[in-house]
Amino acid sequence: MTEADMRRAIARKRDGERLDAETYGAFVRASLAGEIDDAQSAALLMACVLRGMTFDEAAALTEAFVASGETLEASDPHTVDKHSSGGVGDTASLIVVPLVAACGIPVAKLSGRALGHTGGTLDKLEAIPGVRTDLDPARFFAIVHATGCAIAAQSDRLVPADKKFYALRDRTATVPSRGLIAASIVSKKIAGGARAIVYDVKVGRGAFTSTPAEGRELATTLVRLTEAFGRRALALVTDMDEPLGPAIGTGLETIEARDFLNGTRRDARLAAVCEALGSAMLRVAGFIGDPGAALAVALANGRAAATFDAMLAAQGALPGALASLRPLGDGVLVRAERDGYLAALDAVALGECARDLVAAYGSGAGIVLAARAGDFVRAGAPLARVHGGDALAEAAVRRAFSWSAAPVAPRPLVYGEIDAVSAGSAAAVSI
Ligand code: URA
Ligand code: CA
Repeated sequence: MTEADMRRAIARKRDGERLDAETYGAFVRASLAGEIDDAQSAALLMACVLRGMTFDEAAALTEAFVASGETLEASDPHTVDKHSSGGVGDTASLIVVPLVAACGIPVAKLSGRALGHTGGTLDKLEAIPGVRTDLDPARFFAIVHATGCAIAAQSDRLVPADKKFYALRDRTATVPSRGLIAASIVSKKIAGGARAIVYDVKVGRGAFTSTPAEGRELATTLVRLTEAFGRRALALVTDMDEPLGPAIGTGLETIEARDFLNGTRRDARLAAVCEALGSAMLRVAGFIGDPGAALAVALANGRAAATFDAMLAAQGALPGALASLRPLGDGVLVRAERDGYLAALDAVALGECARDLVAAYGSGAGIVLAARAGDFVRAGAPLARVHGGDALAEAAVRRAFSWSAAPVAPRPLVYGEIDAVSAGSAAAVSI
């Protein structure tokens, strides 16, 4: 594609026309090859944000992204992956990956790093001494085969176009577009090789999507796109107005997942979302039986915890490393200065504060919440424990809580589930 062709494509999109699949393919190839410059690429992305994209346009971009790099292929047709659109205190992956594997369904998960205020699964895993996530494809699937699951980093060779475009979108304020987000997420999941994918679309002030209606639209696009590529998909829409679990910070979240799997400590909100996600992963993978009962048994009999240990050992964890993870010091309690109902917890502020604490004091630092939105709290009662940090961090945590004199109605935790049929996929893929 020449600079003149690209100028014409930008003008057409700017004026509200749809672009065809060949144009998207040529655009992505030319941009990666350096035949057109980033100014032109960014202009087209902005036109996509402002004019919107049809489903066919999003599918064409997804296809061009997948074709930009290598693709993996899981040999077991039941292999499942799970992807969250990003949140705070979202420890669910570290729990549901071994939990679903312990039910006999292989889980091959590709994960990303932290983005903005949201946490990244890879950073949490790497808080465990020895653990490696840079697994080549053969090693990745060998670990899935041996232990039931693996969590690996997206390599640079997988969907290089998304890597380039994501960085460009970040710099040019062109991230929030349903079509662009869907192409970015789905291309990586298709290239990752799983046959079935569960999406957890987060909605609320701590997420990239603010309202449940927008979340449903993104969920529908993710499911339809994934099915169009011949993989099965389900999407949940879940709350991210406040952090999901109480622990925020890489090592603290890994400790939360360990204790959850071992049964020594199970937060109710985290448990509800993990049950919904685990059940969706089992169903979309073709599990025969009662998913809820299977998940409960795998937690109760220790198989889920043992599977987590086996996966970590295969990924290089030093013996006893998970068991010996500890928060940094005793931490400092941030206490309520008044009586009242907690109206909201600012997930962005808490996520950013925890990220800064980890950067300054290491992976044992961060925040553990002691009160949640809707709770009635008396003056002097704990709101959160801050590990690492100083008076400034404690003040930031205190400011993240907002108050109400009157009771506050709880927000739903799981807004709904979108499957191929509700998403209106042309052909719902069956196993
Ligand atoms: N996560 C991604 O991988 N891509 C996006 O565009 C947004 C969230
Ligand atoms: Ca994540």
